[in-house]
Amino acid sequence: MRQVIGTAYERDCGARQKCIAKYGTNCFICKFSFGTEYGKVADGFIHVHHLRELSKIRKEYVIDPTKDLWPVCPNCHAVLHLRNPAYTVEEVLAFLGSTSAPRCARPKALAAAGPPGAQ
Ligand SMILES: [Zn+2]
Ligand SMILES: [Zn+2]
Repeated sequence: MRQVIGTAYERDCGARQKCIAKYGTNCFICKFSFGTEYGKVADGFIHVHHLRELSKIRKEYVIDPTKDLWPVCPNCHAVLHLRNPAYTVEEVLAFLGSTSAPRCARPKALAAAGPPGAQ
């Protein structure tokens, strides 16, 4: 059993490399780049989402790294798996554009009130 898992993992590693070679290491959904945000220490880090659940893939199944694997950041990856079966990459892309709230904007009311206990 361990042997089978090990073999599958190694094969998966090769597929991961091909996926990254094609799509790069930026999140396919939100374009997050670990190298850009965190520098050298995290450069090249990215999750790879499997379109088909590995547990349901038969041993003979050959992964197509350009169709079955997508580089995604941990945030988008978590959203993909909020549903079981997972959302598709296209669905999460649509979620990402569906909110009009500006990112990282400080709520005006909070900014005006100042830090708690300042008065
Ligand atoms: Zn992302
Ligand atoms: Zn996944």
